Amino acid sequence: MENKILILNMKMYMELKDIKEYISKVNVTNDNIILCPTAIYLPYFLKKYKNLAIQNIYAEDLGAYTGAISALQVSELGIKYAIVGHSECRNHFNETDELINKKIKSALDNGLKVILCIGDNLEQYKSLKTKEVLKQQLHKDLYNIESQNIIIAYEPIFSIGTGNVLDNEMISNIISFIKQELCDMNLDLPVVYGGSVNSDNIKELIKIKNVDGFMVGKSSSMIDEVLKMIKVVSS
Ligand code: PEP
Repeated sequence: MENKILILNMKMYMELKDIKEYISKVNVTNDNIILCPTAIYLPYFLKKYKNLAIQNIYAEDLGAYTGAISALQVSELGIKYAIVGHSECRNHFNETDELINKKIKSALDNGLKVILCIGDNLEQYKSLKTKEVLKQQLHKDLYNIESQNIIIAYEPIFSIGTGNVLDNEMISNIISFIKQELCDMNLDLPVVYGGSVNSDNIKELIKIKNVDGFMVGKSSSMIDEVLKMIKVVSS
């Protein structure tokens, strides 16, 4: 079995003392593990790890954009990936699909690989609109993009941070749909699942044949959890 991708999105969960402990205890054994610390801690991680992602980028390279960080700036540091379109950024920072499309183009133009997050909310899921919503996001976010340097993260918004994980059959069904949609767009991209993944449920989730890996939020900031999840995806 090929190693599954494990994307560890630490969000804004840790402070400096936690970061130092994390780096001293977490050893990465496999190329498919991508660590995504809060941006200001990236230089600490760069001393030890190869596969790092920034959690968000701005769509412009350089200029008068106070507080922003560009793809050009992170790629110069040696960071390989950028998360784009996370539901928390879509919601809290009002990011539109048009802006997400610009960010993806900027990341790719600057040599970064992209982790594109897509997902439906509970209302859309309950009214059976999941596939329609995902199709729209894929087509708008990936408009005029042909690169294969993208990982799709399917993250149902109602599963993020809630402990409500969809069952394996449902996840598999939605991943098949996403892969078919990508195929129709002439793209062949890995698709990972995210939403309340932890060291327990990953043992069940890894049985899903068409899932290429996982994106983890809360549990990725807990050292014991991370060590166990790394073992599961590396075995
Ligand atoms: C996420 O926000 O990408 C995520 C998967 O979060 P959590 O694991 O905390 O649900």
